[in-house]
This record gives sequence, C-alpha cells and structure tokens, in this order.
Amino acid sequence: MWEKFSKQLTHYTEAERERIRVAFDIAEHCHHGQTRGTGDPYITHPVAVARELISLKLDASTIVASLLHDVLEDCKITKKDLENKVGVEAAFLVESVTKLDHVRYQGFERKVESTRKMFLAVAEDIRVVLIKLADRMHNMQTIRGLTPEKQKRVAQETLEIYAPLAYRLGIGEWKGELEDLSFPIIYPDEYKWLTGEVKNLLPKRKKYLDKILPVVMGHLESGGVYPVSIDFRTKRYYSLWRKLLRNNLDLERITDLAALRIIVNSIEECYQALGIIHSLWRPLPGKIKDYIAMPKSNGYQSIHT
Ligand code: MN
Repeated sequence: MWEKFSKQLTHYTEAERERIRVAFDIAEHCHHGQTRGTGDPYITHPVAVARELISLKLDASTIVASLLHDVLEDCKITKKDLENKVGVEAAFLVESVTKLDHVRYQGFERKVESTRKMFLAVAEDIRVVLIKLADRMHNMQTIRGLTPEKQKRVAQETLEIYAPLAYRLGIGEWKGELEDLSFPIIYPDEYKWLTGEVKNLLPKRKKYLDKILPVVMGHLESGGVYPVSIDFRTKRYYSLWRKLLRNNLDLERITDLAALRIIVNSIEECYQALGIIHSLWRPLPGKIKDYIAMPKSNGYQSIHT
C-alpha cells in the first residue's frame, strides 16, 4: 500500500518522505484489524484524508498528522509516543484534531459549540481545520456505513458548519463536494427531482457550449488573448438548488447551469477577454459580475457574464 501512496509524494523532499513513511507505518500498525462502517480496512480512511491534503500541496507535518489523526482515539498510543516518533509539530496537530472531535450538547447548543471550536482552531493553527475538513470529506464519501439517523446528523452538520468553513477559507472545490454529498441525505425528494430535471436540460446546454467554444477561442486569439485553458464547468447540484429557491424553481432562468470557463495570464487579459465576448454577444442586464474589482468576502476573484 505504501508503494502506491508514495507515488503522490513527488513534491516533498527525501527527508519529508521518510517522516511520512514513519507515520504511514504507525497508522497501518495501529489500525490493523479495524474496519470502517463500510467494511473497508480502517487504514483506507487516513490514507484518503492524507491524499486530499497532498493534492493541496500542504506541508509534510500536515500529511504526517493526517495519517495519524485517529490513532490517539483508536489505538494504545500517546501524544508523547507521537512526539518521539514524528516530532512535536505533527503530534500537536494530531492532538488538536482529536480535541476538535469532542463536542458536548445536542441540537442548537451543539452547533454553537462546534462552530466556536472550529473558529478557535482556525486562529490557533489553520492546518488543524484543513485536516478536519479532509476528514469530514472522506466520512461523507463513505457515509453509507452509518445508520440513517446518524447519516442525517452528520450531513446536517456538514451543511451547517463544514461547507461554509471551506467556503470561507476559499476552498471552493471542497465546499461544493461537501454540499453535494450532504444534499441527497438532507433533501432526498428535492435531490431526486433536481437531478431528473438537469438530466433533460444539461445535454442541450453542453451542446451549445461545444458549438461556441471554438468561436470564442478564435476571437480571443485574433484579439491577442491566449488563454491558459478554456473549458466548461457544470453547476453543482446543491448550489443550483439554492439558486432555484431564489428563482421560483424555474430552471429556464438559470443561465449558468453549464458555463464556459476561460483562464488567462493576467487581470488585463480578463478584461480584454470580456470585451471580446461582449462584442460577439450582447451581455444580459444584471448578469455581469466583476469580482476582480469587487472580490467576494472570501477573496474569490473572476468575472462572470
Ligand atoms: Mn477520521
């Protein structure tokens, strides 16, 4: 298993890879014989959590701590042992993640306490929260292993606390995934309706984008703008659902179900590209958003039209 895992560690130094290997061995040893609710060997969980954090290129101590994030709870190992084996910094991160798990109370009180703890953790060391978010993501991906009541509680907490936190931190991918994993559990009927509707409409919208993509590309290049990439993204289900609630559930009013995404090298080129596109198609009133001049509160910047 290490063989396959270590292939992802290309941007870490030899010494860092060695520390990560030590953590991997401890985790494998500790969780030996334990299984997840899904029936999978337990080690698949810390490994999946580490993989998410590796994809964000986080530092070696974060990766070490993510592999070990459940060992204080689940195995006979102490913080002191961890300090000796993987260093004070990683041991501190593991202990902080473990502490975050302990929330008393039920219902609203519980929400208040979890939120407060998360914000304190952000202030103390942001890496603790990043590990916790990656942990929650894999727990949501494997949520079928829990009872229906527990699934509802975890998904609700994900929607109320974890997804907004990921958004705050500017990790849009994680926010979108956390929401879309929770959506069918919290609103099963609405989810079923929405996915059915989208299945009918999306192919038409995509076909249109396929047709205009080369046109846009040609005009950008003849206008002297050379995109780094140009593709299209489809709107996430939960975010689409929220938007529909504001638009009388009328899917025809959602103009960005599928949208062209153009990435360029500079801010100047963003505005040049916008000018070129508006010379080809007349913009829709009220649908132009300049998040470059006016970034979203989490720092997000781009232009929408
Ligand atoms: Mn975990």
